[in-house]
Amino acid sequence: MLTLSRLIDDNKCYETVRQLRWPHGVCCVDCESASVTKRGKHETHPARQRYVCGDCGRQFDDLTDSLFAGRHQPLRTWIACLYLMGLNLSNQQIAQELSLHKDDVHQMTSELRQAVADKRPEVQLSGTVEFDEVYVTAGHKGQPEQVKKRP
Ligand SMILES: [Zn+2]
Repeated sequence: MLTLSRLIDDNKCYETVRQLRWPHGVCCVDCESASVTKRGKHETHPARQRYVCGDCGRQFDDLTDSLFAGRHQPLRTWIACLYLMGLNLSNQQIAQELSLHKDDVHQMTSELRQAVADKRPEVQLSGTVEFDEVYVTAGHKGQPEQVKKRP
């Protein structure tokens, strides 16, 4: 069967991850040194570049310490999932498009949303702040004293 993720080019997916992760060039995942040299490609994923840090000696690749590392689904499936999430598709629709089980898609979209939320900078409020949500207790069943107006 023809699925979206089979039409997506692995090399372009890895290139996209590299650009998003290291917009100013590859840096060491441990010490952030820019003194990094390429160290061949991954054995089972030929589009996945490996590196070694010239400062601390750490060996890593495009996905090390990222959400996409050590996953059963290939990177292109995750990228396709992210793309379809951007189109506001439901987990059920994404599962159909990618020929995956909807429980697997639920797990993937939950983790992707959490990762995006974790990266979001903390909001700093300043000046006048207005709230337009109010919580009103409608009643305490069997405990009318709890909702009586207090003097
Ligand atoms: Zn390093």
